[in-house]
Amino acid sequence: MVKAVVGANWGDEGKGKITDMLAENADIIVRFQGGANAGHTIVNDYGRFALHTLPSGVFYNHTTSVIGNGVALDIPKLFNEIQQIINGGVPKPKILISDRAQIVMPYHVLFDEYEEERLGKASFGSTKSGIAPFYSDKYAKIGFQVQELFDDEILKSKVARICEKKNVLLEHLYHKPLLKEDELMNTLHEYRDMVAPYVADVSSFLDKALKENKTILLEGQLGTLKDPDHGIYPMVTSSSTLAAYGAIGAGVPPYEIKQVVTVVKAYSSAVGAGAFVSEIFDDEADELRKRGGDKGEFGATTGRPRRVGWFDCVASKYGCRMQGATDVAFTVLDVLGYLDEIPVCVGYEIDGEVTTEFPVTSKLEKAKPVLKTLPGWKCDIRGIKEYDKLPENCRKYIEFVEEQLGFPITMVSNGPGRDEIIYR
Ligand code: GDP
Repeated sequence: MVKAVVGANWGDEGKGKITDMLAENADIIVRFQGGANAGHTIVNDYGRFALHTLPSGVFYNHTTSVIGNGVALDIPKLFNEIQQIINGGVPKPKILISDRAQIVMPYHVLFDEYEEERLGKASFGSTKSGIAPFYSDKYAKIGFQVQELFDDEILKSKVARICEKKNVLLEHLYHKPLLKEDELMNTLHEYRDMVAPYVADVSSFLDKALKENKTILLEGQLGTLKDPDHGIYPMVTSSSTLAAYGAIGAGVPPYEIKQVVTVVKAYSSAVGAGAFVSEIFDDEADELRKRGGDKGEFGATTGRPRRVGWFDCVASKYGCRMQGATDVAFTVLDVLGYLDEIPVCVGYEIDGEVTTEFPVTSKLEKAKPVLKTLPGWKCDIRGIKEYDKLPENCRKYIEFVEEQLGFPITMVSNGPGRDEIIYR
């Protein structure tokens, strides 16, 4: 069977931890979208790791880690990451790279930087990993698929086309150094030699695995609100963050996805620009940011301070609905133990009217949070293993959120570690 682990919010919900945990009972873990632009922080027996491209199941001997066709594959970054985990004492993982995955080129990263520089104050807050230029090229049909690396004729003609097009922009829009055909060919040959041992027909591999009743996890990056169609466009990422896209980005039939574990964080955090209705500022925000996650709310890829806010029922309900949540994993709840009272955003006031339906971006920009305050539990809940042992106010918080979401919270995460989970 196939299970997806996806985010309901803006990313950084703790999908990495949940995937690492569920991978114990899985055979194959697939990354199906996104690239090295976001990260998952994982704390387990080997230590603390920030993964960007590798699936969060790489820490087990029994799993195969797959880079699906939907991923933006940055080959040098992937190889650095593999080296880092090996240096950290993790056994060399089994890795497969889809022959249909496309490659992030060094010029994608440059175009990302140049464009953010050009936009100045109006920039998107991109992580400058080349993701938007990469996906633009993929759909403009001038991307490089992994399988093309093994055909020099295809490479040569494509490189010529790409230089012709990109150099106009480099010269006239960005005033930056031009691309050279021979340098690009060299890079592509290096990449070919690096990936060659790992290239596979992933959809056939997964088809066979399904016939053998293996368990496959699809690991999403970011969350619903960063989806290019259903998120806060244009302040979104460039590939779909929804479980439904897992079928395409991995290459499995949609009806095989039986479980959609949707990760929802007990408060809000976001990186990059864009409307964020329940955002908080100043000392209140600094306190939550400092206490958040396992080492404060700072980006796993960029180290940037994340924006933080109270739990947003409107955004999270929508986030779960668009994912098609079968299970909600409610994470990072332990962090809220310091608060006397916990505000929760239960509605948006837009032009004098209150709604609980998540609006389109132009309306979202005008939304003001309608807050309800719940009592805090004022203690450390880490180490608790049973739901009934949680303080009453903590259970009330969970049950209130569950009712607002309309989806069952079946797991509560009360610490970054693999075992810090309470099943309901
Ligand atoms: P992802 O991209 O969704 O995997 O999320 P990130 O890894 O970027 O951010 C989640 C952060 O929260 C990481 O630093 C995790 O180690 C941490 N984390 C996950 N679950 C919990 C939890 O239940 N409690 C605490 N305190 N930290 C958690």
